[in-house]
Amino acid sequence: MKIIMLGAPGAGKGTQAKMIAEKYGVPHISTGDIFRANIKNQTELGMEAKKYMDEGKLVPDELTVKILLDRVAKEDCANGYVLDGFPRTIPQAEVLTEALEKLNDAVDYAIDVDVPDENIVKRMSGRRACVNCGATYHIVHIPPKTENICDKCGSELILRDDDKPETVLNRLKVYHDQTQPLIDYYTQKGILRTVDGTKDMKDVFEDIVKILG
Ligand code: ADP
Ligand code: ADP
Ligand code: ZN
Repeated sequence: MKIIMLGAPGAGKGTQAKMIAEKYGVPHISTGDIFRANIKNQTELGMEAKKYMDEGKLVPDELTVKILLDRVAKEDCANGYVLDGFPRTIPQAEVLTEALEKLNDAVDYAIDVDVPDENIVKRMSGRRACVNCGATYHIVHIPPKTENICDKCGSELILRDDDKPETVLNRLKVYHDQTQPLIDYYTQKGILRTVDGTKDMKDVFEDIVKILG
């Protein structure tokens, strides 16, 4: 099972991808999480990626593709994976398609979590992420049991630097310019499925499970 999550920043890709990964027993792979882990550990890759992320821009394809291909080549990906935040450009999608073709393989579904721009800024300002395990919450919609403390690991929750409203607007623009064309790309491949991401988290997940079977 190879699944791609598409959608604007803050649409709920990560939230749903984690639930899919758990239900179907495949790894959840977020390029954003990989970059953030590298920033935290102050690796060379992290320092390079941070320059782009802080401005709400995409990290260059060359760098991103390499990281993703290394990750999906690992043993735990043998039975599939859920990609969250990759691909984000047509060239990234093409590299993935070609890499899988070489293995006589292909992505099964690209799931577009559809949320209008008006809802996005509100969602992002309420998003809180765990500094330790990357779990995400929303101060209104999906609150942690104890304010500012991660349910899963007890660490502190923070507002991501790039979730400030001015950066979110940049990211939305980048999404429309560079990522939205992927909707056509996967429609043409016959594997695009759209879910209404404005519904409650559990209802969105039910719709996804119906698609995946
Ligand atoms: P969100 O889930 O809110 O859309 P992500 O965690 O997926 O955010 O991504 C955060 C940032 O990491 C992006 O704004 C971008 O700078 C960088 N990034 C993540 N994935 C990619 C990718 N596939 N290509 C280029 N940049 C990426
Ligand atoms: P993405 O990975 O697409 O950037 P996230 O999964 O991190 O998005 O979700 C963005 C924010 O919206 C988070 O604060 C998350 O808790 C919240 N959220 C996710 N799904 C829903 C939903 N169906 N309804 C309301 N809030 C949601
Ligand atoms: Zn945590």
